Formats: sequence, structure tokens, C-alpha cells
Amino acid sequence: MTFHDLNLLPQLLQAVDELGYTAPSPIQAEAIPPVLEGRDLIGCAQTGTGKTAAFAIPLLQRLNGRVSRRHTPIRVLVLTPTRELALQIKESFDQYGKYLPIRNTVIFGGVGQTPQVEALQKGVDVLVATPGRLNDLCSQGHIDLRSIEAFVLDEADRMLDMGFIHDVRKVIARLPVQRQTLLFSATMPQEIAELSQKILRDPVRVEVTPQSSTVDAIEQRLYKVDKGNKKLLLQHVLQDRSLDSVLVFTNTKHGADRVVKELERSGIAAMAIHGNKGQTARIRALDSFKSGAIRVLVATDIAARGIDVSELAAVVNYELPNVPETYVHRIGRTGRAGRGGVAISFCNFDELAYLKDIEKLIRKKIPTVEDHPWPMEILEATPKKQREPRPPRAERLARTERPQRQKPAERRMERTAPAPQPERPSPRPAEKPALQFPPVQAPPVRRISSEPPRVGRLVAFADGRRGRKRPGAKK
Ligand code: AMP
Repeated sequence: MTFHDLNLLPQLLQAVDELGYTAPSPIQAEAIPPVLEGRDLIGCAQTGTGKTAAFAIPLLQRLNGRVSRRHTPIRVLVLTPTRELALQIKESFDQYGKYLPIRNTVIFGGVGQTPQVEALQKGVDVLVATPGRLNDLCSQGHIDLRSIEAFVLDEADRMLDMGFIHDVRKVIARLPVQRQTLLFSATMPQEIAELSQKILRDPVRVEVTPQSSTVDAIEQRLYKVDKGNKKLLLQHVLQDRSLDSVLVFTNTKHGADRVVKELERSGIAAMAIHGNKGQTARIRALDSFKSGAIRVLVATDIAARGIDVSELAAVVNYELPNVPETYVHRIGRTGRAGRGGVAISFCNFDELAYLKDIEKLIRKKIPTVEDHPWPMEILEATPKKQREPRPPRAERLARTERPQRQKPAERRMERTAPAPQPERPSPRPAEKPALQFPPVQAPPVRRISSEPPRVGRLVAFADGRRGRKRPGAKK
């Protein structure tokens, strides 16, 4: 099948052609015809399947010919959980609608609202939004959703995970009852299934990406390793120069920052992207990664939702997620749109239970790399106290002011395993040789003690103890 078989406008065909798309992806082939007809749709699909074009292309076609003029109301609303996704969806609408007179705008939180309000005032046909900012601007009277003709709820399961479902319901309450609704979700938890029953009317169901098929297209590797050696294993893995763009996942924001610091120490350019980073820092990190200025981007799950890097060579699970579906989401970032990719997972003893759940979900065993310099040697659970990441300041102090304490097993491994080769000389200055002084005669030492002076003769008592016998004491 080609895009020409889908009865699309020549303007859309030209735009798609210029983007180098030769054939519609499965979800596009299945979703475009019913959306063009105005049907509601429920799509079980994750990012990387081409789902954005699956809704953007037919909606652009439906809008065309009836384009609103200045100050006329918004006609299509796309609701998505993260700023990055919102930006990318707006960019996709711009690309696919390049030859159509349709105006697209994006709004999201974390930045000033004034430029967004100004853009809205110029007139908008398609609005891409995150839920919080959308509700804010609606409450302030800057946005009226009563004339929406088509509503897209993107990544519905993520909305739930991220705690936005209440905001989503508020948005839905502002929409007209008469509308076309499209709902996309990678997984279908109970709450989303119920929501979809409420908001969709006789929907077409499109489920082109059973999760295991996406997973099958990706080369997966598992490294069993001790927690303390993951940083060294990552450096070892990155010695493979073919892994030129690598997305590393950690479970926490502090963890992401820590991995970046460790990589930088070993001379590997990396940046972190997570919820504590401001919008500007996130965009800078993403741009550096996309342009190839940095080879490694370290991300938490939420921050990574919107990352669209078409040439991602590998995904590394530095820590395994405790929700098995998250594993599928993560590794789906590589091997996008049919291209091959590698998913590398590090698993320490504590994470073996997560591994079991993941393998159950994907219905296969992840091939284990046996031959690597940092095999798992600690075969007992870490005591609970030690599992929590330390607060950043304590962590900093531990690094700079005290030598880090290691478990004996870790010390043993560091002595025996080969040292990782840095990619370029370490940025730290080389240690200066110690200065040589002529030997000096030590001055006589005067001992100062806070203990009371010891009196009496040192003797062995009858019961075998040794101690001092005070003068005048009875035998
Ligand atoms: P999405 O799932 O919408 O995030 O799309 C994933 C990636 O696939 C994006 O980089 C799109 O530009 C690309 N893409 C979407 N549709 C096609 C297609 N039919 N052929 C090739 N690439 C595509």
C-alpha cells in the first residue's frame, strides 16, 4: 500500500513524499481511512509506530476547505502529557500541513503564558496542549473549546501514570458533545478502558502494535551486574563506537544526574533530561543530542516520553523499571519506524524480580551477555536502608570529602577487572608527582592525653587478666 491509495489531498501527499515516507506504517494504513470518514477511533499504539501521522494527516484533510479566519474558534484539540510531545506533535502538523492554509499552535506549562496567549489571539485551527496549561488558559477566558470538531487524547495511559487524569476529565467536560474523538494509548489499564467507553462513540479499534511485535524488532541484551559496577559497565558498553546515540534510562532524577557526572568523569559527553530541569535546559540537552554534540542522553521515564530521535542506536536501561510496561515503552525508543536498534539492560540482584515480570510480559527471555568484565557477584538483596538514593548534598560530600566506602566484594572486583578505557583523556588534571623533601630529624614527641594518668604496676592477675596494681591495693 502507498499513501496514494488512501485518497489523500495532493498537498498532503507532497508533504509526506518530501519527508521521505514511502509507505504508510501499519497504524496509518488502518487509522487514516476511518478518521477521514469522521469515525471515532481507539488506537493501541505507542510512540515510534507513526501514530502522530495516523491522526494528523486525516484531520488536516478534514479541516481543509473549511479553514477558519482570524479570531474564529479552535477546531481540533490534541491533548498530550508532556511538553516535548506537544512540541513534536505541533511540528508534525506543521510538516504534514505544509501546503495547507491551516494554523497550528502549541501550549504547555513551565514557561510564560504571554507568547502562547498572543499566538492564540492570532487565530488557531489546531491546538496541541498539555492538560494543566490548557485548563489554566480556559479558566482565564483565553481559550474556548466549545467549537472543537475533533479531539485527540494522546498517550492516555501516560496521562494516568503522571496524575493528569483529573485535568483530562476537566478538559473533556469543556468539549462539545458532538465531536469526533480519537484516543491513543500504549496500554489499556482499567481506568482508561472505562474512560474510552464514556468518551468514544462506536469507535473503530486499531491495534497494530501488539507490544511483543515491537519488542521482537529490537535486539535485546541483558547484563547481570552489581549495582556498584554499573557505571563501569556503562563505560565498557560505550566502547562500542557503533553506539553513536544512546538514550540511558534511570529510575530517578538524582540517578540521571549521577550517571551524567560519572560519564563526564570518564570523558564521555552526556547530558540529563528530567523533571527538575527547566524547559530551556531540556531543549538544550535534546538539541545537543540530536545534533550529535553529545553522544549520551540520560533520562527519566517521564522526561523521555517526548524524545523523538530517529537515529537512536541504543537504549540502555541503567536500572530496570519496576513496571514491566515501562520496559516496553523504553526500548520502543530504539528501532523506530522499522529501523533496527539495540536495547541493553543492566540488572543487579535486587532487580531480578523486575526482570522476571518483564520477561513474562514480553513472553521471552532476554538474551544474557555472559562474557563481560563486571559479572554479578553479590547474590543477596541490598538492605532496604541502602537502596534509597542519598540526597544530592550528602552524595556530593561523600564523593568530594570522604573516600567512598565499598563493599568488600566491590573492592575485590575493582582490583581484578580491567580498567575501562576512557574515550578521550580524563578532563581531570593529571596528579602531580609528590614533592621530595630531605629527611628531617623528628623532634622529641610530648604526648598529651585526656585520659587520667595511669598508675600502678602492670601485672598478671590470678584469673589470667592483665592490669595495673594500684600501690597499696590488697592482693
Ligand atoms: P510517531 O510514532 O508518530 O512518534 O512517529 C515515529 C517516527 O516515525 C517519526 O520520526 C516520524 O517522522 C516517522 N514516521 C511516521 N510515519 C512514517 C512513515 N510512514 N514512514 C517513515 N517514517 C515515518
